[in-house]
This record gives sequence, C-alpha cells and structure tokens, in this order.
Amino acid sequence: MLQVNSLSKTFSGFRAVKDTSLEVKKGEIVAVIGPNGAGKTTLFNLITGILKPDSGQVLFKGKDITGLSPHVICKTGMSRSFQVVNVFQRLTVFENVQVAVLAKEKKTWNLFTPSKKLVIDETNRTLESVGLIDKQNNISGALSHGDRKVLEIAIALGGSPEFLILDEPTAGMSPEETARCIELIRHLSKKMGLTILFCEHDMELVFSISNRIMVMVRGASIIQGSCEEVRSNEAVQEAYLGGDATC
Ligand code: ADP
Ligand code: MG
Repeated sequence: MLQVNSLSKTFSGFRAVKDTSLEVKKGEIVAVIGPNGAGKTTLFNLITGILKPDSGQVLFKGKDITGLSPHVICKTGMSRSFQVVNVFQRLTVFENVQVAVLAKEKKTWNLFTPSKKLVIDETNRTLESVGLIDKQNNISGALSHGDRKVLEIAIALGGSPEFLILDEPTAGMSPEETARCIELIRHLSKKMGLTILFCEHDMELVFSISNRIMVMVRGASIIQGSCEEVRSNEAVQEAYLGGDATC
C-alpha cells in the first residue's frame, strides 16, 4: 500500500532523514521506533506532504504522491494524527468530527441545508468506533488529554481513510488511557480493516500490536523486521541501551 524509496530531508545542512526506505502492505500495522530526534515525525511529514523531500519517492497504492499537498494526499485515502494534539478546542467533540466528515463529503457548499444537520449518522458511527459517543456534546478543549488524542484519531477517521498514520498516539496518556488506545488501534486494524503506520515510545504497545517494526537512528533506518528480529538485533540494543538517547 505504501512504498517509500530513499527519502531524504535536510534542514539548514542538518540531515533529519537520510536515504530512508519503507514498505507497508495492506492490512499491516507497522511501527517506527527510535530515540527522540531520530527523524520519525519528519518521515511522516514527508509521506503526508507536510514537508517536501529533497530526494526520494513516495508511492501510495502504486501512485506517485511525492511532494503533493497534504489535502490532495488526504483525498487519496491517507490520513494522520499529530504528535501534538490538533483539534478545534472550542467546538464540541461531535462538531470536530463532523467537520472532517463534511470535508470529505464536500457538502460544505450546500446553501440550503444547515451544515449541523448533515452527515450525522456517519459522524455518530465514527464517534462510536473510537468510544467517544457519550462525550459527543463536550467542548473539546475541556476533554482529558487522553480523550483529546483519541478525538484526533476520530477526526483522521472522518475522512474514511484506508491508511492511517499515527504520530505517538499515546504520548502523555495515563496507563489506563494507553491500554484503551491499544485496544482502539487493534479495533481499527481488525474490525475496520485499516492499514496503520505509527511511531511510539511505549514499547509494550509497539511489541504487542505491530506486525513489523522499523528502527530509526539519527535519520536513518537501521533495521526493519518482525518484533523478534528487532528485539534481538544488536544495533537496536546499542541504540536504546548504549546511551544514545532515552527510548
Ligand atoms: P522524532 O520525531 O524522531 O523525535 P523529528 O523528526 O521531530 O524527530 O526531528 C528530527 C530532527 O530534525 C531533530 O533534530 C529536529 O530538531 C530536526 N527538525 C525537525 N523539524 C525541523 C525543522 N522544521 N527545522 C529544523 N530542524 C528540524
Ligand atoms: Mg516526533
């Protein structure tokens, strides 16, 4: 579904992503792990069009999407959540997701139907799928951090993606919220059939749900493989245990 070929990105002489390749097959859950500053978010920004690569290629469902704008890439079936929560704070939970569904349905132009009455069923279905239906009337800015992170996933789902990219979905979550999020990602994969690429510091989450793992260190991919292959790899142990940075 996703083929990343030799992507590179330099910021003022600093090579944040170096010659990185990655493949994600339909239905897989693939994790990118690595110390802070390894280039994980930059890689996701390059894939989703937020940044343009200096070189390399991104193919999505066989189509070259390298350097396209984020909103164009989003329409091809790829959606993402951000490391730092990114929701409309003053809208309700329902309205945040409704906006995403409306954007996909291109119904915002309709002058004769109040937008509040549109896409109610689909918005409700999305909220149910992430477990936020009971909080649909809450103001988003007043939610707990964990619920806001989940709301961001719901907003990403509002565009009915086939491929979901999650940048540290459990960052800042309590252990209970993290457990809920693990179940949610499993649900999105198994029940909703989504293909998922995510990066995460919580190793329990990574090893419990990933089909494959890629390890990034200083902008480069040092290994891609199954959980067992990654766990037993010496270079990975060095990156995490050898004092490079905290995991
Ligand atoms: P990670 O998500 O793995 O923690 P990032 O992709 O955020 O890492 O960052 C990789 C490196 O690139 C870091 O050293 C960071 O400071 C640098 N970087 C990221 N974005 C920019 C930017 N827009 N301008 C300059 N440097 C950046
Ligand atoms: Mg990051």
